[in-house]
Amino acid sequence: MFPWIVEWLLIALAVGIGWFIGHRQSRGGPREPGSSSKKLPRAFEVVFDAYDSPTLDSFIQTLPINAETVKLHLSLAGYFRRRGEIEKSTAIHQKLLSHPESGEAFTCRITFELGQDYMAGGLYDRAEDLFQKLIQSGEWRDASIERLLEIYEHEKDWDIARDRALSLDLKRNRRVQIRVAHYCCEMAERSLRRKAHEEARALLKEALGYDKRCVRASLLLGRIHLLQGQHAEALTELKRIEQQDPAFLVEALEMIEEACTPDEDDGKYARILQRIWQLRPSSRVMTALALAKSKPEDNRASIEFLLAQLDEHPTLGGVKTLLSLLLPFADTEPKRWIQIVRGVLDSLLEKNESYCCKNCGFSGKHLHWQCPSCKSWSTVEPVPWL
Ligand SMILES: [Zn+2]
Repeated sequence: MFPWIVEWLLIALAVGIGWFIGHRQSRGGPREPGSSSKKLPRAFEVVFDAYDSPTLDSFIQTLPINAETVKLHLSLAGYFRRRGEIEKSTAIHQKLLSHPESGEAFTCRITFELGQDYMAGGLYDRAEDLFQKLIQSGEWRDASIERLLEIYEHEKDWDIARDRALSLDLKRNRRVQIRVAHYCCEMAERSLRRKAHEEARALLKEALGYDKRCVRASLLLGRIHLLQGQHAEALTELKRIEQQDPAFLVEALEMIEEACTPDEDDGKYARILQRIWQLRPSSRVMTALALAKSKPEDNRASIEFLLAQLDEHPTLGGVKTLLSLLLPFADTEPKRWIQIVRGVLDSLLEKNESYCCKNCGFSGKHLHWQCPSCKSWSTVEPVPWL
């Protein structure tokens, strides 16, 4: 027997075992449309991994298409797509779709998978056409709308995305509530750039209507009030973040300071910081609080506060602030050393990544409302201790 025939038989046997396991797993309950390709049995992946591309190619070429083998074709196409071989997965799905033996029962699923191929290949217009058609089919409706949202997000068509998302069941879908609120925030930011403050404000109120925990809307409302000189109103909006997600209060520090500046009560900012410190301590709040305690003629209270905190939270930012506060007390030579150490701390802090996605672990120096890696909304958070 020729070696390639032996190999072909082995792969067919192995895939058959994979299919059997997958078939048994699939009887465990209904599967959510759209999640199919991610939840294909792990056994398939292991089997496919064991063979090189030419072997898999010749296997799929010789595998007949009928109702019994469609799932196997779909599995292999999904495998190719996950490996970045989009052309191969597209070719398999197109062939399945045009083949009379693939069966009507699979038409929607194949169309959905082909749409995913187009998206992976950056052919958003073609993908959009397919998902638009699938909206008519009951079972694939919601999954197709979610893919359409991804397309509109990519195109930054926020108003279309919002209108489309509203056709989903918002009450029962927390992820969609978060998404729609961000679409409104995106539109509000555009309005703000045009200085259309009232339009932006209305959009942000709309965002809070969809997701009352939308920190971004509160931050933007705070900023609009500050732009209009309404300091008390700005503080009211920013205070809402305490209930929404105190981890984001650090993002409001500068605005809170600005809102407190014209106030006759000069201890107000320090008291708010103290409250935030109790709610959600972090290195940024620690530094801000130390500086707020500092007075031009006497900064001993700041130094005492930092020394006490650094015992428990030895952070680079805290040490750097402490050195800055100690600088006026130092003689010429120690002053030079302090400045050198402070420079070193600066370069170390430069490299620190201050934000991290709780969904995928992506980290970066800037706050992204949509994670650049996993594309989830509201999953990137400030890292408390740096
Ligand atoms: Zn992420």
